[in-house]
Amino acid sequence: MRGISRRQFLQSAAALGLAATLPACRELSHYGIAIKVYLPGMQMGHALRGNTPMPNPKYERKVKVAILGSGAAGSFAAWRLKKSGAFGHDEVVIVSGPERFGNAAAGVMNGVGYPQGAHYLPLPSMASVHVRELLFEMGVIEADPFGEKPTYNERVLVHSPEDRLLINGHWQEGVVPHTGLNAEELAQQQRFFAQMQSMQHAVGNDGRKAFCIPIAQASQDAQWRSLDQMTFAAWLAQHGYTAPSLLWYLDYACRDDYGIGIKETSAWAGIHYFAARGGQAANASEGAVLTWPTGLNPLLQHLQQGQSLLEGMAVRIREQGDTVQVDVLHHGEVTRLITEHVICAMPLHVAAKIIDLSQYGFNPAQHLAPHAAWQVSNFLLKRFPDEAEHAPTQAGPQAMHDYATPLAWDNVVYSSQSLGYVNSTHQLIRAAKPANTVFTAYHAFDNEAPAAIRARLEHASAAELYHTSLADLGGVYGWDNPITARRYIEQVEITLRGHAMASPIAGFLNNPGVAALQKQSGRLLFAHSDLSGLSVFEEASWWGDVAAQKILAQR
Ligand SMILES: Cc1cc2nc3c(=O)[nH]c(=O)nc-3n(C[C@H](O)[C@H](O)[C@H](O)COP(=O)(O)OP(=O)(O)OC[C@H]3O[C@@H](n4cnc5c(N)ncnc54)[C@H](O)[C@@H]3O)c2cc1C
Repeated sequence: MRGISRRQFLQSAAALGLAATLPACRELSHYGIAIKVYLPGMQMGHALRGNTPMPNPKYERKVKVAILGSGAAGSFAAWRLKKSGAFGHDEVVIVSGPERFGNAAAGVMNGVGYPQGAHYLPLPSMASVHVRELLFEMGVIEADPFGEKPTYNERVLVHSPEDRLLINGHWQEGVVPHTGLNAEELAQQQRFFAQMQSMQHAVGNDGRKAFCIPIAQASQDAQWRSLDQMTFAAWLAQHGYTAPSLLWYLDYACRDDYGIGIKETSAWAGIHYFAARGGQAANASEGAVLTWPTGLNPLLQHLQQGQSLLEGMAVRIREQGDTVQVDVLHHGEVTRLITEHVICAMPLHVAAKIIDLSQYGFNPAQHLAPHAAWQVSNFLLKRFPDEAEHAPTQAGPQAMHDYATPLAWDNVVYSSQSLGYVNSTHQLIRAAKPANTVFTAYHAFDNEAPAAIRARLEHASAAELYHTSLADLGGVYGWDNPITARRYIEQVEITLRGHAMASPIAGFLNNPGVAALQKQSGRLLFAHSDLSGLSVFEEASWWGDVAAQKILAQR
């Protein structure tokens, strides 16, 4: 071993073993409230970045396919391969990575489940056939899975009230601001949504939809794709959209889906948010979404059902003759997988540390997209907060209609830089209101350089993290006050996702490195939402499906 002593090696290998098996977790407390902080993948990422030497393989295992990563992309690939019947049970193995289920992970506190990341799925578009196939198998779609208006299971269609917005001291229904706005602002909104509706039907010169999910099926027409050359903010200004309430809403929407605001988001991606889906249901209104108490985790649980799972992290990948060798580190020991096919379903910034991607046409220095950092904060509540008492009208309670909008599934605060909070038990309330619940507060750090945020978050104090968690909840329920906070909050769990998702900044559509990985056809294939340049379930699962289909075609 070159350059380091045996002692240093043993120390670093032990640290790496620990990093690969334990989710990095800090136990803090604030206002006397216990706060658990998870930083999935962070220690391991640092170890890989620091080129920590790896132990030699202790075990060897032959498999036909190794899927490296257990997020939506990897899980979907495993599901497709299993469904094909082409492989025996132990011939396909999913390597979990530092966090099983990735961004679709979930937790449980006191028996109440909640998401640690992804929490909803819009009604799938006509082109998202792969998602419809999955939902039909799960019983989420009950009838007409590939038609214009499938019938969805009522338990999964988000119940009413779906969302609300706190604006000018009042809760209004829906998150598009309308309370107290003048006619000009409302007219701009109408014009914007009408324009987006017409974009839903826009078709390029190749006959394909201009905006489509999966993006891979969208038109290549340069006229439409040139929208990617400017920011969404610039496009909005060019089209005379100046109303502050509309611009706030669009900024919120981009931060909510992409982790970045309109000043950075590509105009193509901004329009895509509104124009790409258009999924409908026989038994729900347009724009409805599907959700579960644990967010999207049940989808991944289903995809991974009956699959062979190997805990650990891939730390080395090497193509060797007609096999691919993958070293997987777990509890300080390395297992070498000798495989016929590998699907690399981990984020590209991690892949770049364990394999030379330039041989596949991807140069990390040029082609890695910026990643947004997110904080997902879960509050286990002793009881539901009293909405009526705490509806924060400046002048105090004025009339019953001030409180007419009860707690919704998604609760957003106008002009906040945060993303509101979701009630994890919302779908259960109709059957029997539980005694307690979990509120999940979402925050994307979009105002600071991502690397600086990541460095700051790693060592952030309990007070700092709590402050971010409470950006919206503090004002709504008075939880900035320690006495009030302790009355309601049992415990808090915070998940810090330093490299949560690729940001679709202007120019993201024309990334030749990503295009090269999309086209791979050898023994090593890539599948992750990073291949789309924006992170949603339909895109991640699409690339898992594509990789699996390529393997099936090769056999
Ligand atoms: C806070 C947040 C909220 C979101 N909300 C939604 C939502 O509501 N709806 C929606 O559609 N999308 C949402 N998303 C987007 C979400 O990222 C995608 O839906 C999808 O889950 C991404 O899946 P993926 O497989 O591409 O990646 P990831 O989820 O990043 O999975 C990557 C996998 O690779 C593993 N891995 C990493 N390193 C290694 C290694 N060395 N070896 C092996 N494995 C490794 C990880 O452990 C993980 O299992 C959200 C994202 C975040 C961060």
